[in-house]
Amino acid sequence: MFRKEFADVIGKTGMVPLKDLRPLMLNKDATKISELDLLRFDFFDDVKFAKQLSENYKLTFIDLAKAKVQDKYLKLVKKSDIVKYRALPIQKSAKAVTLAIFDPSIVEMKADLITLYQYNIEFILTNISSWANIFERVTESVDELLETVREIKGDNLDEHVEVKEEDIGDDVIRYVNRILADAFIRKASDIHVEPYENTFRVRFRVDGSLAEVIKPPKNLMLPIISRLKIMAQLDISERRKPQDGRIKLSVGGRPIDYRVSSLPTLFGEKVVLRLLDQSNLQLDMTKLGFEAKQLQVFKNGIHQPYGMCLVTGPTGSGKTTTLYSALSELNTVDTNISTAEDPVEFNLEGINQVNVRKEIGLTFAVALKAFLRQDPDVIMVGEIRDLEVGETAVEAALTGHLVLSTLHTNDAPSTVTRLLNMGIEPFLVTGSLNVVVAQRLCRRICTSCKVEDRDTSKDEIISCGVAPSSAEKMKVYKGEGCERCNGSGYKGRVAIYEVMDITPGVKELILKNASSDEIKKQAIKDGMKTLRMSALTKVALGETTLSEAITNSSADKF
Ligand SMILES: [Zn+2]
Repeated sequence: MFRKEFADVIGKTGMVPLKDLRPLMLNKDATKISELDLLRFDFFDDVKFAKQLSENYKLTFIDLAKAKVQDKYLKLVKKSDIVKYRALPIQKSAKAVTLAIFDPSIVEMKADLITLYQYNIEFILTNISSWANIFERVTESVDELLETVREIKGDNLDEHVEVKEEDIGDDVIRYVNRILADAFIRKASDIHVEPYENTFRVRFRVDGSLAEVIKPPKNLMLPIISRLKIMAQLDISERRKPQDGRIKLSVGGRPIDYRVSSLPTLFGEKVVLRLLDQSNLQLDMTKLGFEAKQLQVFKNGIHQPYGMCLVTGPTGSGKTTTLYSALSELNTVDTNISTAEDPVEFNLEGINQVNVRKEIGLTFAVALKAFLRQDPDVIMVGEIRDLEVGETAVEAALTGHLVLSTLHTNDAPSTVTRLLNMGIEPFLVTGSLNVVVAQRLCRRICTSCKVEDRDTSKDEIISCGVAPSSAEKMKVYKGEGCERCNGSGYKGRVAIYEVMDITPGVKELILKNASSDEIKKQAIKDGMKTLRMSALTKVALGETTLSEAITNSSADKF
């Protein structure tokens, strides 16, 4: 389907503001949108989309997921013809062959199709994901995709040392490409390639959970790992030291970027690939999971002319996304924004991003000091790890700059005590801090198979911290597992937040060197919702399950 039309239909369904579709619309490789592009978007409800399309084109809509399609109809024509026309023969009656399509423009090829089938043709429109599920019975979709995997060389990568590739055959190259294409289809955020004494396995992380996908033959272990290292431009002869690199690929016409790290373990090198998918980056702050009041406090913090805004949480809790969304909101032509990151995860237009490189002495502290000589307005520093970075960040915040950064603490109040423990004076902390945000990610219940969870008792809900009177009325939900969520009951993730405003009461306690518990009590009194409270709100709203909420909001989870 053509891009403009796609945008029109999406606009009519109202499922997402058009500006969120910009990365897709701007993909210059394609004047057309492929089905794969559509499925990658979490917000994209393809059933809604197809229903709107069927109205526009006056076609009948069918939910193929609920239809029983017999193999004999799928075999009416050659596989290559199904691929060519993207039309699935799902029924044949005395009157016509029924073709299921997801792209209405195929209707224009009716004459060709009548010639092909030598029979009258009828079209029905279906949604892409159920179309693709039936299509997989005709053809192995990973194989189709495999043909499209291409390495992108040279672009933005440092010059690399030539390595020997003679030990790696075509079959290994295909095998590795298959893993990468498969990870792309399953929306895996990380790929773990792991050697053990007698086995070798590949695991994918999808929506935060790791699961084993394949156990390649042990004799492929070295070639596969070497191939990945070559693609990432690492030194394949070096097997004793950890290395970092990057793989750039094009899958289905889409540029995909992986950050790669290798680590020597007891039985060989473990390689982890982290997907850096720009099109999945959610920059709209209102979509991240903030509650209205939390968003207001956070926005107020980042829109101050100067001061420090900190985001805290464990690795993989979505801190970068929150910071990027803040930067994108502050990113105007009259603002000079610089970031020091380890490493830069996404390129943001109009922002000066610097990769810190310890080995050449370009640390967070050094980058931060250099920014201050570059007439900055907004500075983001990847992480405040030590006193030197902390002091420089505070100084920058106190001298008229807005500073954004992250810390590795459990909750918002303990971020303050961490700064104090680093050795930063209490009056500098109160003078510079605008807002502190703690966050976690919870898996979102799949909307296609969401049902009320009647197995959870009121007592269990109460034991999680819900007041007995509220627990009485509270309904909890779960996903039963369906095709759309691969049976997991979850699809996508939602962030839970704890947003701490630096109120006069909180300031007073910081100046008194109070404990994080005391600060927390005061912050709650001043209106802060803790991670646990926010998580339970998401449960009550039916966005996540009780167990996800509890696992991700227990204070000692790190
Ligand atoms: Zn589901």
